[in-house]
Amino acid sequence: MVARPLTADRHFRVAALTAHRDVEGLAAAALETSAEFAVIADPSLYGELKGRLQGSGVEAAAGPDALVEAAQRPADCVVAAIVGVAGLRPTLAAVRTGCRVAIANKESLVCAGRLMIDAARASGAVLLPIDSEHNAIFQVLQQKARVSQLILTASGGPFRDTPLDQMRAATVEQACDHPNWKMGPKISIDSATMMNKGLELIEAAYLFDTSEDRIDIVIHPQSIVHSLVAYDDGSVLAQLGMPDMRTPISYALAYPHRMALPGVARLDLARLGQLDFSVPDPARFPAIGQSRAACAAGGKACIALNAANEEAVAAFRDKRIGLLGITEVTGAVLEDTLRASGGGEPDSFDHMFELDAAARRGALRCISRLN
Ligand code: MG
Repeated sequence: MVARPLTADRHFRVAALTAHRDVEGLAAAALETSAEFAVIADPSLYGELKGRLQGSGVEAAAGPDALVEAAQRPADCVVAAIVGVAGLRPTLAAVRTGCRVAIANKESLVCAGRLMIDAARASGAVLLPIDSEHNAIFQVLQQKARVSQLILTASGGPFRDTPLDQMRAATVEQACDHPNWKMGPKISIDSATMMNKGLELIEAAYLFDTSEDRIDIVIHPQSIVHSLVAYDDGSVLAQLGMPDMRTPISYALAYPHRMALPGVARLDLARLGQLDFSVPDPARFPAIGQSRAACAAGGKACIALNAANEEAVAAFRDKRIGLLGITEVTGAVLEDTLRASGGGEPDSFDHMFELDAAARRGALRCISRLN
């Protein structure tokens, strides 16, 4: 989504909206918001989109180049929420315009962190995370030179306290049953293995320009403290609130202001009574150690870890491997990648896509061995 601010009754003017294949949802949203431009990623749906927008004044387009065009439209804020590596080119295009880019796509930073950060430096774009943990850090980050540690909180997912032998037998339904957030299956399974937190550690390292050893991960089952920043004077600043994505999304859209959200439940600490914190068990959640190793090695290893994880999660959803097989696959692919290429960053987007494809092939070989 590409938004320009507006005053009075409406907060934003929508310059462009995009969707992958949900042409009905896209057309409805474009009409409701009076968007100037609507893009469907799947070119075979162009005719249907054009038909649905007939006579509305909303311009219709389709295909990957049109996604990039949407991202480059003049705007104050572009929300990068396209899932997967498909989101990288449009996100980079938005970053290069120098506008504020609200990032909801993990791959932008996990796979192309260095490219995005360098492009933002060159254009003056502000990268503003929508992911709740990074959004929390963004909100309380000040005097970067005085930061001693970033502290990411993790709910621990549905298997926070589940013994290893029971995790081995976990079903897809159990893995998707997240205690605090209603999310899609991929990110829910990533929460169950805690790979989600590992990928978030990589995101934080790029976004806040720090090394993995200065990022702590702490389990906090209530998901009330969304993350914290520790300073070298002993102060720790945190952002708290009920788990509701409308808060970080509105913060990113309204930045540098805040907008009222009357529909969001208020935090009542006395009623909650207690907030718990603990350390994740490295034996049950090897994804965190793998992510640290990838982060320390650089972008090439992060790309491999992410690609292997996507293939392994797909295999788990198809019942080709068990839950614990996911991190067996990611661990094996990461080890191979580090052995073959060492560390460092990809030279270009094309290089990144090559590394992604190679890691997927390695993951598929590993999956068939486990199967
Ligand atoms: Mg998150």
